Amino acid sequence: VHSSLPRCARLLSTSSRCRTVMPAWVIDKYGSNEVLRFTKNASFPIINYPNEVIVKVFAAGLSPIDVAMRGGYGAATLSMKRDPLNIKQSGSEFPLVLGRDVSGVIMECGLDVKHFREGDEVWAAIPPWKQGSLAEFVLLSANEVSHKPKCLSHIEAAAIPYVATTAWSALVNTGGLRKDNCANKRILILGGSGGVGTFAVQMVKAWGAHVTVTCSQNAEQFLRGLGADHVVDYTAGPVEEPLSALEKFDLILDNVGGDTESWALKLLKPWSGAKYVTLVTPFMQNTDRLGVADGMMQSAATVASKALKHLMKGVHYRWGFFAPSGCALDEIRDMVDAKQIRPVVEETFSFSQVPQAFEKVEKGHARGKTVVQIS
Ligand code: NDP
Repeated sequence: VHSSLPRCARLLSTSSRCRTVMPAWVIDKYGSNEVLRFTKNASFPIINYPNEVIVKVFAAGLSPIDVAMRGGYGAATLSMKRDPLNIKQSGSEFPLVLGRDVSGVIMECGLDVKHFREGDEVWAAIPPWKQGSLAEFVLLSANEVSHKPKCLSHIEAAAIPYVATTAWSALVNTGGLRKDNCANKRILILGGSGGVGTFAVQMVKAWGAHVTVTCSQNAEQFLRGLGADHVVDYTAGPVEEPLSALEKFDLILDNVGGDTESWALKLLKPWSGAKYVTLVTPFMQNTDRLGVADGMMQSAATVASKALKHLMKGVHYRWGFFAPSGCALDEIRDMVDAKQIRPVVEETFSFSQVPQAFEKVEKGHARGKTVVQIS
């Protein structure tokens, strides 16, 4: 009976085919917190491709990128990803659902999905060009999804995927770190106390590296508790001075940006393959400001000239980016289940308190992650 159904009908089961709307927090234009709007009538996601899944959201993590996207950050670049042929009118991304982390349960699977079944507990980091997790349901590609760690609640699990896949992309894909090549490596994490930093510290520590972090003085004990070997207070004066007195590093992950580039690369071991990877790049601002083609050209020219300049001094300069990856989350799940990494939930909000959750993230000074309980 199943195989005789039309293909499109087989993509969905009866439970969601009758739903057309769902509760969600949306924005209808870019702006400050007042653009957030709760609706019971957001469009219910529809499986368009056979490798897609619909996830019922139990918890959603918030990140600084959600605050930035609320204000229009990345609008040009993300519109190109959503509508590569530029067919739709400007503003077709609205109503837009924010929220990049999800922990929940698979509700529907496309025909080609083999690795997941309805009812599986999963987690994922949602690419910024897709509708987010501040909604009852979210649509994802199966390759972006992973079975969630059994030992975590949904709230705890929602604190990890976006920062973890970002740290993984920066440290593993760009920085070349692996679990079997970190022993005795000296790693410096600039900005250890936020979402990315608290994850990155635990990950490289679990892989045997010696980890130095910079943070505010009041985060020192917190970061030592996550495994940092050496902590430098950036509020006590120019942080490059105490850092310069230390043995040089094999890799620096920069979560801070600003003027760090002017001094941080001098802290690397020259002519040894040492790398500086920054997550704070002008890539999106360039494409927002100059348009996609010119913005990408500008970014390529900037990163190439900086990489060349530093290569001549014997160190590598790289930009790191978030990359959605179910495979990376599978490996991270194993590290969580092995108790090598724990979630750092700073504050939890209910679904009705989404604007307050945004205010919290917008204030900065994070000590881990802000999570919203959806159901
Ligand atoms: P968070 O807001 O969670 O954390 C930032 C942390 O940095 C806070 O704990 C803050 O605490 C601390 N901090 C601020 N200034 C300094 C400083 N000068 N030195 C050391 N620590 C400092 O941000 P995330 O961890 O989520 O993200 C970090 C950065 O990475 C952001 O700029 C974000 O935009 C970027 N990012 C980029 C991605 C990409 O694809 N390129 C993806 C994800 C994130 P306090 O102020 O109290 O010291």
